[in-house]
Amino acid sequence: MLHRARAVVIGGGVGGCAVLYWLARLGWEDVVLVERAELTSGSTFHSAGLVGQLRGTLSLTKMMMSSVELYRDLEGEVGLETGWHEVGSLRLASAPARMHEIARQAGWAKTFGLPLELISPGEAKELFPPLETEGVLGAAFLPTDGYVDPSQLTFALAEGARRRGAEINTSTRVTGIRVARGRAQAVETDRGEIETEIVVNAGGMYARE
Ligand SMILES: Cc1cc2nc3c(=O)[nH]c(=O)nc-3n(C[C@H](O)[C@H](O)[C@H](O)COP(=O)(O)OP(=O)(O)OC[C@H]3O[C@@H](n4cnc5c(N)ncnc54)[C@H](O)[C@@H]3O)c2cc1C
Repeated sequence: MLHRARAVVIGGGVGGCAVLYWLARLGWEDVVLVERAELTSGSTFHSAGLVGQLRGTLSLTKMMMSSVELYRDLEGEVGLETGWHEVGSLRLASAPARMHEIARQAGWAKTFGLPLELISPGEAKELFPPLETEGVLGAAFLPTDGYVDPSQLTFALAEGARRRGAEINTSTRVTGIRVARGRAQAVETDRGEIETEIVVNAGGMYARE
């Protein structure tokens, strides 16, 4: 295990592995991830992996759009499946107020560059035959949404980071962060210390510990 790194990422879920991947892709070679158990042993393992890009703010939506671009390419880059299926998503409206809301969302989507289309209940049923359309007034269809296998995605991100020089240490528990004058100095683990000035806490629901 390295004992000095430019950045240390705590947590080997999809969040931590994505941060590690992007740091490595930006050219940060001496970055280290520490995971107390195995990769994907936190919430990531339980996720349904549904990926909806239209969010409440422009920055979150742009982040989701760039994630989808990555999901399309990552498998080719690292040679590991991510389980990405670009099947599209449907938002249904069965009340006038909801119809108004999805029409407004379609307007935002256009400004964000997302191809969200308003469609009729019949068109929604063609896309998803088990749909019961009684009472449905309309729907919004976003063809570039989809779902991913969260565990496979995490392993693919980890592999992409490793290939660019990042180090991943599993079975390594973080026990503390050494701080001096308000700045991080080192991450303390049950396998020794890693000196660093940058700590990314991606410990998920355990991050506060
Ligand atoms: C049932 C369910 C369904 C979901 N469905 C969706 C969905 O459809 N779409 C969607 O976008 N999101 C979904 N989510 C949410 C998604 O799973 C989480 O947002 C995501 O997995 C969080 O990833 P993470 O890397 O932040 O955390 P985690 O996956 O929890 O990773 C944290 C990691 O940190 C490690 N760790 C903790 N403490 C330490 C320590 N002291 N030292 C070293 N390592 C440590 C843990 O072992 C763990 O591996 C769902 C979640 C659940 C539970």
